[in-house]
Amino acid sequence: MLQSPVEFFRNLPKKVCPECGQTVNEQAESYLMECDYCLSKKSE
Ligand SMILES: [Zn+2]
Repeated sequence: MLQSPVEFFRNLPKKVCPECGQTVNEQAESYLMECDYCLSKKSE
């Protein structure tokens, strides 16, 4: 059975960066969706 990409990512237990699709390492204090790479790009 094929799932749509949206359903696939929604079913993943880990967060996935909406910018690049990388798995985001969850941190207890983290409320951000983007991965470290995309965050560092934005903060520049
Ligand atoms: Zn990213």
